[in-house]
Amino acid sequence: MKTYPDYIVCEHCDSVYRRRPGRFYEQAHCATCDALLYRGGRHDVDSWLALALGAAIAFAIANLSPVIRLSLQSLRNDATLWEAARALDYGAAGPIAVPLALSIIIVPALQIALFVWTLAFARVRRRAPGFALALRLLVALRPWSMVEVGLLGILVAAIKLSSYMKVIPGVGLGAMAASMVLLTLITQRDLRTLWDATEPAPAPDLAAEETA
Ligand SMILES: [Zn+2]
Repeated sequence: MKTYPDYIVCEHCDSVYRRRPGRFYEQAHCATCDALLYRGGRHDVDSWLALALGAAIAFAIANLSPVIRLSLQSLRNDATLWEAARALDYGAAGPIAVPLALSIIIVPALQIALFVWTLAFARVRRRAPGFALALRLLVALRPWSMVEVGLLGILVAAIKLSSYMKVIPGVGLGAMAASMVLLTLITQRDLRTLWDATEPAPAPDLAAEETA
């Protein structure tokens, strides 16, 4: 099948345009329906990777340290994100423990790992093994990543609980807020620029013919 990498189709009205190289943060909009066609910035894989690594560190801290500390007289309880999801599993809210763990822990972790994997190779203009699958997965996972919803839920719970007991925000809460911002920054960029920033690996038999 012949492909036309220089052309871009508007997702909303099917108008076809010829792509032009754009500068960082330049945007191209559809002339018919004004939808965003693509963002510029194909040469900033380095900063993208730096943000992804930052998100990985912040997300690791958010998962390993307590997000909230509850104390009532002499009783004290620290809770990490995992413990919060597992605690739900015992109560009446059991069925939402799995989607909660998926949307605030597993999906964001998978997204960050896929970004670091593809961007580390894209830095040297190579396509990582499983590149096409990784990019398709990143598009599919986007609606299921809800760190911001989890953060909002924790803040609401903390405010409500604060009338009964002492609630102290933990290190994990700050790290969760940081990972939320960084995740937004890395997922809002146009994944199509990664196709332009990388070159397909040469087919092994063709390369052998050329050297022979
Ligand atoms: Zn359009």
